[in-house]
Amino acid sequence: MTTLQPVRGMHDLLPLEHQKHSFVIDSAKNIAMSYGFAEIATPLIEFKEVFKRTLGDVSDIVSKEMYEVADRGGEHLVLRPEGTAGVARAVMSNGLTQSLPLKYFYAGPMFRYERPQKGRLRQFHHIGVELFGVPDSVGDIEVIALAHEILTTLNISSRVTLEINTLGDSESRNDYRNRLVAYLRDHITALSPDSKERLERNPLRILDSKDEGDKRILKNAPQLTESMNARSKEVFEKILEGLKILQIPFKLNPQLVRGLDYYCHVAFEFTTTELGSQGTVLAGGRYDGLIATMGGPSIPGVGWAAGIERLVMMLTQEVCPTPTRPLAIVPMEEEFDIYGLQLAQTLRKQGHIVEMTYGGGLGKRLKKANKINASHALILGAEEISSHMVTLKNLDTGDQVLSPQSQVSQLLKDKGVL
Ligand code: ATP
Ligand code: MG
Repeated sequence: MTTLQPVRGMHDLLPLEHQKHSFVIDSAKNIAMSYGFAEIATPLIEFKEVFKRTLGDVSDIVSKEMYEVADRGGEHLVLRPEGTAGVARAVMSNGLTQSLPLKYFYAGPMFRYERPQKGRLRQFHHIGVELFGVPDSVGDIEVIALAHEILTTLNISSRVTLEINTLGDSESRNDYRNRLVAYLRDHITALSPDSKERLERNPLRILDSKDEGDKRILKNAPQLTESMNARSKEVFEKILEGLKILQIPFKLNPQLVRGLDYYCHVAFEFTTTELGSQGTVLAGGRYDGLIATMGGPSIPGVGWAAGIERLVMMLTQEVCPTPTRPLAIVPMEEEFDIYGLQLAQTLRKQGHIVEMTYGGGLGKRLKKANKINASHALILGAEEISSHMVTLKNLDTGDQVLSPQSQVSQLLKDKGVL
C-alpha cells in the first residue's frame, strides 16, 4: 500500500514548528490586547458570496484561488481565503454595527489554491487585526504602529521595510484607473497575457505584476500620486506625519496597490529580502467601502494580515523562548509506576512540569530522563515508597539527596527549579 500523504501545499505542524507558530500568535495577541483589540474567530467555511461580493469576481483570489465545496444541501461554500471579509460579515450578522469602534484580532488557517513554493502554501496561517468605525488617520497610524510593535517584539522589524502608498478616495482612484488604462492600451501588445486580461477587469493589479516585460512598461506609467485630489493628499500626509512622530520608518512606494477591490486611501506592506520572491510578510490598508459592499451601512475600516509561516521563517534563535526543562519521574520498577503518577500529579499542582518515564529499570529510565532534557530525576524505589520519600537526582551534576515527598517541591524551588 502506498503511504498516505498530506494534500499538496498543506503542511503538518510538528511540535517544534508548532511552538514557533504559537509563539508568534501569543506574542501578537498579547500586544494586540494591550491596544484593546479583542480576539475573534469566524468559521473556516463561509458562503461563496461573502468573498465574491467583497473581493470582486476579478480578484485573483475569487477568480482562481478559492477552494470551493458544495455541501450535501447544495450550498456553494468556500474555505476562507482571508480573514477580513468573514470578520466584516460577523460584524453585520451579529448586529454589531451600532457599537463602534470595533477592534478585533484573529489568528487561524486560510486556504488558497496557489502554486506551492517556499513561503507559499495552500493552507497557511494569518494573524490579523481589523479596526472598524474610525474614519480618521489616527486609526491607520494605530494599526500600523501595532504591526510595527509586533514585528519589533518578534525581533523582525530591523529586517523588514514598511512600504506605504495611497490609493486615494474613489474619485482619485477612478481618475488614476482611467489614466493607467489609457497608457497601457498603447502598450497592449507588449503586456503579459495575465496583464492583458486584467486591463479591462482589474487594471490596478497590473502594477503588482512580477513579469519583467510588464515591469519595463510600468516604469513610465502614470503615477498614482498625480491623480490624488487635495483631500486624499492631506489624509496621506497626516498618516506619514504620525508615523514620523512615532518613529516608525517607512518608504514610499507609488507602485504599491492591494489586490483586493475594497481598499482605499492607505495601503502598506512590510517586506523583506530574506525570503526570496515571497517577500511580503504583512500587508494591509484601509477598506472604507467593505461593509457597504456587503449590504451594510457605510462603516470605515482599516486593518492588516500577516503570514505566520513567513514570520516563523524570519524568527531568530534568541527570540524563541526555550521551553522549561521538565522533572522526570523515575520509578525503579514497573509496579511502582502508579506511585510515580501520584507524585507527578502533586508536583504539577505545585507548579512543576513533570514527565513520566515509561518502561524498564533505573538505568534505562535515567537515559530517557536525559533524552527529554529533564533537570532532575525523581527516583522511586521500594524504600522510598514505604517511607514516603523520593531520591532527587540532579541530572547535570549527578548529585542526589533523599527528601520527604511532601518537601521535594520546596527543595526544588529553593534551588530556583520549577
Ligand atoms: P502575495 O503577493 O504574496 O500573493 P497577497 O497579496 O496575496 O500576497 P494577502 O492576501 O495580503 O497576500 O495576505 C497577507 C499575507 O499573508 C501576505 O503578506 C503573506 O505573508 C501571507 N500569505 C498570503 N498568501 C499566502 C500563501 N499562499 N502562503 C503563505 N502565506 C501567504
Ligand atoms: Mg496572493
